Amino acid sequence: MAIDQTFEEAKNKVSELRDLLDKYSYQYYVQDKPVISDTDYDKLYKELVGLEENFPDLISNDSPTQRIGGTILPGFEKVTHEIPMLSLGNAFDENDLLEFDKRIQKLTDKKIHYICELKIDGLAISLKYKAGKLVLAATRGNGEIGENVTQNIRTVKSVPLRLKKPYNIEVRGECYMPKSSFVALNEEREENGEAVFANPRNAAAGGLRNLDAKETAKRNLSIFIYTVADFGEMTADSQEAALKQLDELGIRTNPERKVFETIEEVWTYVQTFHDKRTQLPYDIDGIVIKVNEFDVQEEIGYTVKAPRWAIAYKFKAEEGTTVIREIEWSVGRTGVVTPTAIMDPILLAGTTVRRASLHNVDLIKERDIRLLDTVVVHKAGDIIPEVTRVVLEERSTDSESYLVPTHCPACESELVHLEEEVALRCINPKCPAQITEGLAHFASRNAMNIDGMGPKVISQLFEKGLVHDVADLYKVTYDKLLTLDKIKDKAANKLLTAINASRSNSLERLLFGLGIRHVGTKAAKQIAEQFETIENVQTAKQEDIIAIEGIGEIIAESVATYFSLPEVDELINELRISQVNLVYLGKKKEELAKSDSYFNGKTIVLTGKLTHFTREEAKDRIENLGGKVTGSVSKKTDLVVAGEEAGSKLAKAQKLEMTVWDEDQLLKALEGEENE
Ligand code: NAD
Repeated sequence: MAIDQTFEEAKNKVSELRDLLDKYSYQYYVQDKPVISDTDYDKLYKELVGLEENFPDLISNDSPTQRIGGTILPGFEKVTHEIPMLSLGNAFDENDLLEFDKRIQKLTDKKIHYICELKIDGLAISLKYKAGKLVLAATRGNGEIGENVTQNIRTVKSVPLRLKKPYNIEVRGECYMPKSSFVALNEEREENGEAVFANPRNAAAGGLRNLDAKETAKRNLSIFIYTVADFGEMTADSQEAALKQLDELGIRTNPERKVFETIEEVWTYVQTFHDKRTQLPYDIDGIVIKVNEFDVQEEIGYTVKAPRWAIAYKFKAEEGTTVIREIEWSVGRTGVVTPTAIMDPILLAGTTVRRASLHNVDLIKERDIRLLDTVVVHKAGDIIPEVTRVVLEERSTDSESYLVPTHCPACESELVHLEEEVALRCINPKCPAQITEGLAHFASRNAMNIDGMGPKVISQLFEKGLVHDVADLYKVTYDKLLTLDKIKDKAANKLLTAINASRSNSLERLLFGLGIRHVGTKAAKQIAEQFETIENVQTAKQEDIIAIEGIGEIIAESVATYFSLPEVDELINELRISQVNLVYLGKKKEELAKSDSYFNGKTIVLTGKLTHFTREEAKDRIENLGGKVTGSVSKKTDLVVAGEEAGSKLAKAQKLEMTVWDEDQLLKALEGEENE
């Protein structure tokens, strides 16, 4: 900022910055579609803070620096926060942290500690418990008024609906989407021609603020609670003690927190997690540093917007610049045509990146991405490479707008934009790319699991006219396979064995493999379990399908429409003739929980301190799934779960080279997910 800036100049700049920040906040908080990175937003915000500090007369109540950014969406009941939900001051480098420490030391004479917590990148939620029962969940909104999202929060499995003690408390935390769920969601949305989310935060916010709780449930959200707003029956004199008590109540807190005596130690912690952040299963955007002692927190107090006793250290977005050499277009099995930028290699968050999905045409137009442009690339949610923006200063003067293809790169039929879709689609049902993608999907691991039937074999089979649809895969012979490139006796036999084995798959694999729109593995399983035979699915009415818990109108309609097609009838008949199993072979739901579980029939030892539930609760849950929990490690033990500060039992298990899990692995398995 120029020192000799006049009041008038500053006033104009302030007004310009406020308009920009308001616009970006709206896109970020209300539409869940940020158009600039947090780092760029924070830069503009910092500039505004600087100007307001130099020209205090310019400060007004409606400045983004004086209020919390969110707005309440219509459709939700409003909730007034009796204790406001605040934001946090920001630090961007070591110096900012040293300054923070100096401020704190000036404001108190007492000896203090700092507690460092991960800054989970999700959205703030307040949970109210009465007599130990969850009665209200609300978003932060504008800090004073939020949205009532109780119904939706009830679908988040890590939110306890009942506490271990009948307390009357209000707690706050961050609701987030795990990275793996974010990747899967975006893949599914891209395939369905829907706009993708920029990061897990926006996907979580969109999920939680959906008027249909079934949609929230699909997002697989989770929560970490980081503060107590109303202590009720709780007594604690520090943040550390309060978090420990929350653990004991069955509330999920983040286990990575740590208490330090000096700001130098805090800085080391910050750097450690800066490097470790990509390995975490959830996205963090910084570290929150708080004064640990509650009496000092009270002494130091608050500004209008944030506590003075805490600060959020913000990580810089991992980004870099590179050049786009080519835009590649590929056709998915549903006909969606997706552009991918092929770039000069660049090292980002530990991996070399050469390709970044540009998702859809709108994005290319919106960001005006052109060939040979220098672009800023970052990793969304630390994982998916994305083009953030074009560096316009580097663009050559003779650069031309990118010409989006009008015809399918595989079959050359004209591409279309279906209503309400951002995607370009090839709607030619005979498009070879769609057919081969569909065949590859059918053979993939989660579908019919035909080992060796990868894209290369499939495209050859298709090009040679040996396979036209999934039923033809069962008519492939040894001789036909030998005509393919690089397939000799051994590979051909292996493939035939795999094809044959897939005939005995349970119905849900086939249902998923058929590639019915909107039917993922979960819905396929639920449908198979409910209807048991393909004939029952074929004759099921839309309302019978909707009656399945967790299946909504969109899936039901898609399934009913699919099975009403005469060509699908024909396909199923052919599969029947080829002796492909068309019956559900799994157990019914009631038996399923037990028998399908990893824990069934296993002997498990729990040791160390568990943070997400008590020993008793963990034991109950394991036993409900058919496992046996014993007190000592012996040869009969199948698994040892080691919590924090685990001692001799863990040592013994390690000596005996037994399987040892940490608490997160236990949690995952209890939720029915697979551990490596
Ligand atoms: P913030 O994200 O900087 O920090 C406050 C929030 O941190 C709290 O509300 C809480 O939800 C969260 N948090 C996570 N872990 C926590 C923990 N352990 N303890 C306490 N709090 C924890 O502030 P904000 O007001 O939520 O959002 C402002 C930020 O949002 C900006 O700095 C910017 O990065 C981002 N933003 C981006 C855009 C954009 O267009 N990209 C627009 C608006 C805002």
